[in-house]
Amino acid sequence: MKRFLYLEKKDLGTILNQYRPLLKINDPFVPISSDTSLIFKTGGQRSERPFFINKVAPCRHVCPIGIDIPTAFYLASQGDIDGALRTYLQDNPLPGICGRVCYHPCEMECNRVNFDESINIRSLERFLSDQGHVDITRDVPIHSKKEKIAVIGSGPAGLSAAYHLARLGYRVTIFEAKSELGGMLRYGIPSYRLPRSILDREIERIHSLGIQTQLETTVGKDLSWKELESFDAVFMSLGLQSGKTLFETDGLENDILIGLDFLANPKRWSLEDDTQKTLIIGGGNVAIDVARTLLRLHQGKGTNITVLCPESRDQMPALPEEVKEALEEGINILNGWAPHKLHREDGRLFSLDFCRAEVKIDEESGTMEIIRVGKEIQKHMVDKIIVAIGQRMKSDNLPPGIEIKQGGIVTDRFGRTSLPKFFSGGDAIRGKAFVANAIAGGKMGAFAISCFFEGRDIEIEFQRYQIGDSQIYSFPHFIGGLEKDTIHLKTVVSFDQINTLFFSKNARNNPDKLEPETRKKTFEEVTRSLKQAGMEEEISRCFHCGTCIDCEICLDFCPDISIIKDTKLGIYSFDSDYCKGCGVCSVACPRNVIEMVGETI
Ligand SMILES: Cc1cc2nc3c(=O)[nH]c(=O)nc-3n(C[C@H](O)[C@H](O)[C@H](O)COP(=O)(O)OP(=O)(O)OC[C@H]3O[C@@H](n4cnc5c(N)ncnc54)[C@H](O)[C@@H]3O)c2cc1C
Ligand code: SF4
Ligand code: SF4
Ligand code: SF4
Repeated sequence: MKRFLYLEKKDLGTILNQYRPLLKINDPFVPISSDTSLIFKTGGQRSERPFFINKVAPCRHVCPIGIDIPTAFYLASQGDIDGALRTYLQDNPLPGICGRVCYHPCEMECNRVNFDESINIRSLERFLSDQGHVDITRDVPIHSKKEKIAVIGSGPAGLSAAYHLARLGYRVTIFEAKSELGGMLRYGIPSYRLPRSILDREIERIHSLGIQTQLETTVGKDLSWKELESFDAVFMSLGLQSGKTLFETDGLENDILIGLDFLANPKRWSLEDDTQKTLIIGGGNVAIDVARTLLRLHQGKGTNITVLCPESRDQMPALPEEVKEALEEGINILNGWAPHKLHREDGRLFSLDFCRAEVKIDEESGTMEIIRVGKEIQKHMVDKIIVAIGQRMKSDNLPPGIEIKQGGIVTDRFGRTSLPKFFSGGDAIRGKAFVANAIAGGKMGAFAISCFFEGRDIEIEFQRYQIGDSQIYSFPHFIGGLEKDTIHLKTVVSFDQINTLFFSKNARNNPDKLEPETRKKTFEEVTRSLKQAGMEEEISRCFHCGTCIDCEICLDFCPDISIIKDTKLGIYSFDSDYCKGCGVCSVACPRNVIEMVGETI
């Protein structure tokens, strides 16, 4: 109905054109009177009134961390790169990392997909975080609260929990088993995808919040869980530290490796000899990272490196872009095969038999079953095998009495475990094993711990700040309250609510990549940053779904000149004397920010 009204304006334009010489107007869309009409208080005709309310963009709704992407892009479009980064940092302590390695579900749900192509949200996150400068300590009450929290593990879940807790004013100490912070960001994901300088920069920023760290301390071994009693709460972000095994290695420990062990220190295993035939078993990110790391150790000579997995190419759990890049670099991937029998000779690894296989995935539970198909067997000569078929939690260092199920710590949806004072998140609770989900787990942990200390009903609190029907809440609203902002966090703007007449189709801007022939010989970062012009073009493509960006289209379209802009506060209201409730502003708004609500008598 409202859209119909708007389309009708085109006919109105045609009619007005006939009178143009008479009226001496150039723009058929601008209402004009030849005399004052102020005496006609048309507001009396109104049965509905416009109501300005920001809503949630679908990209934000599906981002596991709930980042306010349209606001960040709006600030960037005004040249305020620092403001854009500050917006990211409200919810995400690691934008430079997510801007590189996140699986970007935001792009899959971006409304722009239905128009031309999704916005390159991840590349923009990277650009803005690399270019922006923000002193995060400025607005937070560091150490303003007395409660102390121990965070165990410093992967993205632990770093995120520590960051958000510190911003809430709590005193945080991180205990980390390894000699450096970062978890799989440092000891898993290779540097050609995530340079360590970026990780160090983001950790430094988190550190600036007055967080204590105790490295080389495995809780449950070097320090007992009981010794943490002096802390008021514990957040466990232990990750999945053990790679699953496939074969008995006895005596072949240097020939049959675990992918995670290899990636943690690739040079340790003396695999530089490129004449050795190496087989990597697995179809996930770890397998692909192992293959590409080995290729770089071999100075780009990949003829003896093969990845084998039972999944078809489309079923591989590795991110499609990773698989594509590996293939471009010349990695050989054999799909639809599973290892069958290992042969040794003279105490050495000799060959491996493969059999034909396929994988059935249960969509609901996410579990997979490998099924042998037919009788075909192939023998492959092999010098080294690297097994990358998944990870599991180390169960020997857990706090006594904690409930474990299917290899993960049992929690409710807020990360509360079976033990009082103990919370958990990240890979250890066996949800989606991605960086963004781990960050979300840490953010949720901070929320749950805060509610616990302050005796607030967590269900009610979560309802209040929940974004749409997602599993995440808005951190800036949690600390700042909802009162100051005009946003309805529960409503998500869909594509059919966008007025696309105001947008033109443009191709997506993608960053450059190093050429395969160059990149396969080096650990230099493969993907480059967007250039300044590319960033600006990409930002200008964003619809800013549900977010008022001061475009003033509503002002232009109101036939009664009844929209009032408060230039100081940048907010809009309507003149109740003259607004007759026609709804044109609501239909015209490109971003679905104006609702018509019924008048009450
Ligand atoms: C090779 C590889 C590539 C990946 N690529 C991607 C990717 O491209 N994109 C993506 O989104 N995800 C990727 N992931 C997954 C992602 O890295 C994980 O989901 C994420 O790191 C999980 O974070 P976490 O904090 O739960 O655990 P982790 O990152 O595993 O960190 C856990 C930390 O806890 C410490 N710890 C454990 N037990 C104790 C203890 N008892 N006392 C003290 N410290 C302890 C560990 O030393 C570790 O530092 C990849 C993973 C791997 C292994
Ligand atoms: S963290 Fe991931 S999902 Fe969220 S905005 Fe960034 S790229 Fe998108
Ligand atoms: S167009 Fe912009 S605001 Fe809308 S979903 Fe895409 S990135 Fe988000
Ligand atoms: S376009 Fe003007 S008159 Fe019509 S509803 Fe909006 S503010 Fe009121």
